[in-house]
Amino acid sequence: MKKMKLTTKILLALLAGIIVGLLSTSNPYIVNTFIKPFGTLFLNLIKMIIVPLVFSSLIVGAASVGDVKTLGRIGGKTIVYYLITTAFAVTIGLVLGKLITPGYGIVLSFNSETAVQETPALIDTLLNIIPKNPLKGLIEGTMLQIIVFALFLGVSASTLPDDKGKPFISFFESLAEIMYKITAGVMKFAPIGVFGLIAPVVATNGPDVLLPLFKVIAAVYIGCILHAGIVYSAAVKLFTKINPMKFFKSIMPAAVTAFSTTSSSGTLPVTIKSVKELGVSDKIASFVLPLGATINMDGTALYQGVCALFVAQAFGIDLTIAQMGTIILTATLGSIGTAGVPGAGLIMLSMVLTSVGLPLEGLALVAGIDRILDMARTSINVVGDASCATVVAATENELDIEVQKEAS
Ligand code: ASP
Repeated sequence: MKKMKLTTKILLALLAGIIVGLLSTSNPYIVNTFIKPFGTLFLNLIKMIIVPLVFSSLIVGAASVGDVKTLGRIGGKTIVYYLITTAFAVTIGLVLGKLITPGYGIVLSFNSETAVQETPALIDTLLNIIPKNPLKGLIEGTMLQIIVFALFLGVSASTLPDDKGKPFISFFESLAEIMYKITAGVMKFAPIGVFGLIAPVVATNGPDVLLPLFKVIAAVYIGCILHAGIVYSAAVKLFTKINPMKFFKSIMPAAVTAFSTTSSSGTLPVTIKSVKELGVSDKIASFVLPLGATINMDGTALYQGVCALFVAQAFGIDLTIAQMGTIILTATLGSIGTAGVPGAGLIMLSMVLTSVGLPLEGLALVAGIDRILDMARTSINVVGDASCATVVAATENELDIEVQKEAS
């Protein structure tokens, strides 16, 4: 009952934020000065939790899996699930881009200042996941490095003879619990935070900016809804005994937090809380979700598909099937090296466009509405992580149906 109330409150806050934002488009100053700080405060609060939570929960997760073989099996399932669903997502994006043709009728201005950021080569991304200095990785919040170091620590601690690793594991168990507790407290502030995050975005972007690119926005939003409705529903239905509607309802607080913060890493504490209420065990949640927040981005991949077609159409370029294949591959693999932070997908888009020789000028237009697109894609990124945790938990016998019954 209490959980329901919070979800309703968050949704109402979202709606109120949109309305206030729309009413303030002619004068966003007030919203930006007096309402936005509440959003920033909420964002800072959840950012504060991320590094200690990911680090401690992955150490505990890896240690509780125990043997390396089981860890490899769970890790394997997780990565296969992530890759397959991401490939589906880009495909949905490409199909919608073909059907909705967002790029027709749009005139690209070539004199736009396209700020293209350098994307690191794939090989560097892969080599960089081993931290040369793990403490630096922790301080700078480099997620993949933190994940790798935590996995090394957790596995080694659990395999030491004579329980020598036990005090270490207990310490991090305690830290993880403390972080969950802090998350629960911070979530009470979520409705105000969500309101403070959404109102300024709507007030600053306003309908004028949104309308010309309405088709891109529509394609991304429809794609996200279809991906969740088809791919995640099917996966949850096929592998678990949970009704997909029940799944979506439970994950709603995480989806709304993702929608307003546009950061999967930032939403992680809430995602973990939501899947645990679905009955997913600590062991699976604390292993699959931190990994997913960093390497799994279905919404982002879907957006790459739509935007690639948008840019191609705007320039009158016809993409071949082989080029579409390249887009699927680049977007799927690229999502692994992209951090779950606001706007990361836009940087990745430049990599996808380059891979098939599309002009980067199109980025400038999409960049104008990036925040609006980021909100939808981040929600899907997070729901995708949660669906993976639920499916992997079910196949590992780590899903406690009783917990859900109590929560509902
Ligand atoms: N903001 C997204 C996330 O955190 C990444 C992106 O920009 O697509 O998952």
